Amino acid sequence: MRIKINENFGNIKESYLFSDIASRVKAYEASNPDAKIIRMGIGDVTLPLPEPVVSALHKASDEMGKKESFRGYPPEYGYAFLRDSISTHYAVLGVSVDPSSIFVSDGAKSDLGNIVDILGDNQIVIPDPVYPVYVDSNIMSGHNITFINGNRDNGFLPSPSELSDKNIDGAVIYLCSPNNPTGAAYDRNGLSEWVDFAMKTGSLIIYDSAYEAFISDDNIPHTIYEIPDAYECAVEICSFSKFAGFTGLRCGWTVIPSTVKAGGHELSALWKRRQATKFNGVSYPVQRAAEAALTDEGIKALNANIEYYKKNASLIAKLLDSKSIFYTGGKNSPYIWLECPGGQNSWDFFDRLLHEAQIVGTPGEGFGKGGESYFRLTAFGSYEATLEAVERLEALLG
Ligand code: PLP
Repeated sequence: MRIKINENFGNIKESYLFSDIASRVKAYEASNPDAKIIRMGIGDVTLPLPEPVVSALHKASDEMGKKESFRGYPPEYGYAFLRDSISTHYAVLGVSVDPSSIFVSDGAKSDLGNIVDILGDNQIVIPDPVYPVYVDSNIMSGHNITFINGNRDNGFLPSPSELSDKNIDGAVIYLCSPNNPTGAAYDRNGLSEWVDFAMKTGSLIIYDSAYEAFISDDNIPHTIYEIPDAYECAVEICSFSKFAGFTGLRCGWTVIPSTVKAGGHELSALWKRRQATKFNGVSYPVQRAAEAALTDEGIKALNANIEYYKKNASLIAKLLDSKSIFYTGGKNSPYIWLECPGGQNSWDFFDRLLHEAQIVGTPGEGFGKGGESYFRLTAFGSYEATLEAVERLEALLG
C-alpha cells in the first residue's frame, strides 16, 4: 500500500515488561513445577463485585429484555442518574461538581489516552516513574515531553521546583495521586503548589485520581477540586475500576468544569464534541451498576474490599519498616514501591525474588528511568497469600 501511517508510533518504546515477566515466570515454573508462586505484580483487583452492584446489573439486564423498559444507545456523556450520583459523591467529599461537568466513559485509560485529541501541540510535563499511558499517548501525537523526576529525595512526589530551569508557558501537566506505581500521594500543600504553578504559567493539569478511594490520611485531597483554583486549570479523570472492582465491567468519568478555558473555548465543549463524534456511551447495565456502587450500601461494601487490600498493604509496609528498607505507598494506596535491597537493579531483584522466594513483582524500570532500582509490589492478592509472601520476604531479606 502507498498510504502513510502515523510515524510517531515508531517513537514509542516497545514495552516488553509484562511479556518479559511472563516468560521468566514460565521458564522458572518449567524447571520448578512444584514451586508455589505468589503473584504480587498484578495491578488488577481480585475480590468479586459486591451484592448491591450485582443486583443492579441483574435488574438492568432484565429491563433490557422487556419491551417497555428496553433502552438503545445511551447518552454520549452518561445517563443523568449516574452523572447526578457522581456529583453527589463529590459533594460528600466536600466539593461542588455540577453534573453537566461530568462525562461518563468506559474507563480512565480511554479518557487519559483520548484527551490529547482536544489539545494542541503543547509542552507536556510528566512525572517519571509513572503509569505509561500519559507518555505513550503523547508520543503517538508527536508531542515532546519534559520529565520531572520522582526520587527518594522528594518521596516520589516531584514539585514544580523541578521545572525551575525550564521556561514553562502553557504546558499540559499530568499528575497521578495516589500514584501508580509509587503509591505516593500529594498532600494539600503539595497539590496546591501544582495548582498555583498551573495558574501562574497558564498550564492545564490532567489529574488522575483512579486510586482516590484508598486515601485515609486527612491531609491528602481526594479530588483536585479541594484546591479552589483547580476549577480554572484542572481536568480530573477517575475510575470505578479500583474503587468498585470494575476492571472487567468498565466505567470511569472525567470532570471538566465549564471554567476551564483555553484558546477562547471551554475545554468541556471540545470534549463534548470529541465524545459525541467518537464514542457511543457506556452500556445501561454498567451505568446502573456504577450508580449502585455509589449508594450508601454500595460504598459500605466497597469500603470493606478496600480495607481488605489495605490490610495486605500494611503487612508488606510493616515488614519493610522492620528491615529499614526505603519505600513509598502502602498506606493511601494498594501499591508498595520499594528500593531494591543491596543496590540491585530492578530486574536482578525480580529474578532474586522469583528464584529465592517464588514471589513475582514488577520491576520499577517498566515505569520509567526513575524506577531502575525500585520495585512494585501490589496488595491486590489474598490475605493468606500476602501473609505467606511477607514470611518468605522476611527470610530472604534476613
Ligand atoms: N490510571 C491509573 C493510574 C491506573 O493505574 C489505571 C489502571 O491500572 C488506570 C488509570 C486505568 O483505569 P481504567 O481501568 O478505568 O481504565
